[in-house]
Amino acid sequence: MKIEQLYQRFDTCTGVCTDTRKIEKNDLFFALKGDNFDGNKFASQALASGAKYCVVDEKSYAIDDRYILVENVLETLQNLATFHRDTLGILIIALTGSNGKTTTKELINAVLLKKYKTTATLGNLNNHIGVPLTLLRMDETTEIGIVEMGANHPKEIALLCEIAHPDYGLITNFGKAHLEGFGSIEGVIKAKSELYDYLMAHKKTVFVNENDPIQVKQTQNYDQVYKFGLNSSTDTRLEIINTQPYVTLNYNGSEIKSQLTGTYNFNNIAVAIAIGSYFKVAPEDILNAIEAYTPTNSRSQILKKDSNNIIMDAYNANPTSMMAALENFKQLHQERKLVFLGDMFELGNTAETEHQSIVDYLEANNLGEIYLIGENFFKTKVNHNSIKKFQTFDALKLHLQDHPIKDSFLLIKGSRGMALERILELL
Ligand code: ATP
Ligand code: MG
Repeated sequence: MKIEQLYQRFDTCTGVCTDTRKIEKNDLFFALKGDNFDGNKFASQALASGAKYCVVDEKSYAIDDRYILVENVLETLQNLATFHRDTLGILIIALTGSNGKTTTKELINAVLLKKYKTTATLGNLNNHIGVPLTLLRMDETTEIGIVEMGANHPKEIALLCEIAHPDYGLITNFGKAHLEGFGSIEGVIKAKSELYDYLMAHKKTVFVNENDPIQVKQTQNYDQVYKFGLNSSTDTRLEIINTQPYVTLNYNGSEIKSQLTGTYNFNNIAVAIAIGSYFKVAPEDILNAIEAYTPTNSRSQILKKDSNNIIMDAYNANPTSMMAALENFKQLHQERKLVFLGDMFELGNTAETEHQSIVDYLEANNLGEIYLIGENFFKTKVNHNSIKKFQTFDALKLHLQDHPIKDSFLLIKGSRGMALERILELL
């Protein structure tokens, strides 16, 4: 079936769905294949649950005209999303980067919502399936789309750009994340810069953080840039007033008190302010949007549990974001500080050195008592007796039963698989 014909059918549906458990009446169902499942097998179930049509790529399943037979379901989903996005002519802002994508996306959305009807990526749906689904959620009323793009291998961002056709873009930062797939920091820079490559090839605007030398270098020969940053020479000049423990900054003479901790979050806020300013959102609206935003899901959330205060940053971790969190924690003026770090995953053969570097940093800097959890940290060489290692979460649990923690200021950070938010139950 031609994409135009499919689009006509999509127009008569409520929305798009790829999961039979989440079908809504009159959805268009895409029978995607995964490593361990074949969506074609669920097509009849999707119809029974209320789907109007099913896109399948196995002839034997296409038994009546509610089934739409195509060559490849995934590619069809992606092509439909591009067709939809181009037909509506929505302005799309795309963002990628090693850390801070979701936080930045939420901040940009909060700011732009003050003036525009926006549609932004829900949660973390930032891959080759999530991006098309995000585009297909947009409609005639959407003025600006904000699309998070994630990648752990080269060429993924290039593909996502070919799907989303962004008009504007930014890279939050280049860091040591997903080294397994990218090989090295140079690999990360090249792969993330695929967004710049697309924007430059199509003469689109790039938002550039002047404080990030890599961003500056990667865009140096391009003139369609909108610059911002700390002490920037442009009209989006920002200054940090305070980071204890929340980031407070000065924007055009007004003080913005954010509910985000971490100097690294300054960059995330800065780009949201810059985009608000570019799209002519009133300064007081920008200020209100930033001040109202609170992080969720263990992304640098500040919590209180009995007598302890906690920076809960257990959503994810990689060498760059862990160092950023430690640097920030070091600078916080608190009486009794305590750090819980869990293993960082997806580091390939750099895992050993990256974990050791974190330990070396901890030994060279005074951050209070340190608890390291996981197989990787367990293998590191530790000299200082303020650093304790636990091979498993259960070992930590046993220790804390005998040594309860009180009246402390805690940082908790580790990869998703470590699920360190469980520590809250032990306090
Ligand atoms: P994912 O790869 O899972 O999509 P993400 O890039 O969307 O992650 P966020 O979910 O916004 O990132 O933030 C995850 C964590 O990254 C935060 O809790 C914080 O520790 C760290 N982080 C956020 N922003 C930055 C930044 N600009 N620089 C370094 N670390 C950051
Ligand atoms: Mg994310």
